[in-house]
Amino acid sequence: MIAESQLRADIVEVGRRLYARGYTASNDGNISVRLDAGRLLMTPTSVCKGFMTAEMMCITDLDGRKLAGDRDPSSEMQMHLEVYRRRPDVQAVVHAHPPIATGFAVAGIPLDRAVLAEVVCTLGSVPIAEYATPSTKELPEAVGQYVQAHDGMLLANHGALTLGKDLFSAYYKMETIEHFANISLVARLLGGERLLSREEVFRLQDLRGRYGIAAPAPICADPAPGGAAADCQVVQAPSAPGQRLVPDYEAFPGDLAALVARRPHAPGSVPADQEIRLTYGELTALIEDAVKNLK
Ligand SMILES: [Zn+2]
Repeated sequence: MIAESQLRADIVEVGRRLYARGYTASNDGNISVRLDAGRLLMTPTSVCKGFMTAEMMCITDLDGRKLAGDRDPSSEMQMHLEVYRRRPDVQAVVHAHPPIATGFAVAGIPLDRAVLAEVVCTLGSVPIAEYATPSTKELPEAVGQYVQAHDGMLLANHGALTLGKDLFSAYYKMETIEHFANISLVARLLGGERLLSREEVFRLQDLRGRYGIAAPAPICADPAPGGAAADCQVVQAPSAPGQRLVPDYEAFPGDLAALVARRPHAPGSVPADQEIRLTYGELTALIEDAVKNLK
């Protein structure tokens, strides 16, 4: 077991890294780690994670009662407690607002496409927990739906949450999510990801076993009816290699009128003042077209 003094120093170090990398601003974010079967060491509320000291931390029990510390525990303590209650294997929890991943969370786009082999092997998919008001009991409930099967998730219109078998493992998953979000964003600006095939995804899943990569749930290609958030990690992968799930640019002639003409309910021209609803795929194609024209 790691000494309490070392865990306090580790939380200070992880807080410093989160702040230095711009994953938190001001007093955002929170970090916790299990001290033993019944106690947690946690960051206090209202401190900048970049400038913490070891003495600032709080000790609570698993019901959130403060056992030690001059300051009050994090305002997101209930979210941390929910994770520890549902995942006995988890030793540490990190919450931050890394800007690119949080951008995906704000846009309502989960990081669940089969893009990077290492991410598929380790995190699997990064779903979005439904929006809940921070610090209320709604947030632990929203997170609770995904925590059984995932070690990392986005929080809608809020940030990201990662879990690990130790503090640095939870922190590195936060780095992986932000890195993955960065790469996904660039790939989408460049015309969209070419996805790994389902066959490759299941080959990568086999590597988890071979290399002893711990994952809370297996990967599945399609969500089960009613949602499989609690059972498996849904990774979007086409059945043929290199295929895209998002439409290719070439699939659309590239101007709005042509796009609209493809819609069954809107043949021909559309009056200038009429509302037009576009699917995500159509909007993506329009943005891609605009980016192409800028070059
Ligand atoms: Zn937050």
